Amino acid sequence: MAWNDYEAVLFDLDGVLTPTAEVHMAAWAEMFSTFLGGLDTSRPEFADADTSAYTDEDYYAHVDGKPRYEGVADLLAARGVELPQGSPSDPPEAETVCGLGNRKNDAFTAVLERDGVRPFPGSLALLDHLRDLGLPLAVVSSSANARAVLRAAGIADRFVTVVDGRTAAALEIPGKPEPDTFLHAARDCGAAPAAAVVLEDAVSGVRAGAAGGFGLVVGVDRGAGEQTLLTAGAHRVVTDLADLV
Ligand SMILES: [Mg+2]
Repeated sequence: MAWNDYEAVLFDLDGVLTPTAEVHMAAWAEMFSTFLGGLDTSRPEFADADTSAYTDEDYYAHVDGKPRYEGVADLLAARGVELPQGSPSDPPEAETVCGLGNRKNDAFTAVLERDGVRPFPGSLALLDHLRDLGLPLAVVSSSANARAVLRAAGIADRFVTVVDGRTAAALEIPGKPEPDTFLHAARDCGAAPAAAVVLEDAVSGVRAGAAGGFGLVVGVDRGAGEQTLLTAGAHRVVTDLADLV
């Protein structure tokens, strides 16, 4: 890997640097299983809802890598369930898209606080290597919890900038699969897109990297599948970031 050809490296967080994708998946599954299982289909607005069991396939098809409320909205649309959007300040009990998203977030933060999180060993090896090379590094995450995860993993000091869900909301720029959050991070690193590398495990994030015209888009296959990531626009696919040291 010719890292000297590049001027910045932009990392997705969940599933690329830390195995938080598993924590997110478990939190989503708990929230959606409870919600769909308890849905009252005798209510006219839910009469056509598909309440079959929520699966990992649902996660990869509708939720993975998207901003939280968009993940909720897309899964509900796929199940024929219409809920009001509500507002991010909705309590977790609210029967709204935002309320369901906040339920999921409560489950995630509970697990993070209880168990902590360790970076993938191969990802830590690559972070060390890139630090030795002096390349500016960024985190670009749809999560609103990115900073808490980086602190829990002990790697918060490695990055020039963190562009997360809160940053995107404050800047009023769209999240993945649009390229804007990656473009913002590249600017923060002082690099043109063509001189920056994107590392992503989610289809929506690989699409964002491809749409932004980045010099290299590396798909990290944590379950989405090599061919799926290549089709979404990855230039190459690895299963371990240690392969890039
Ligand atoms: Mg990810």
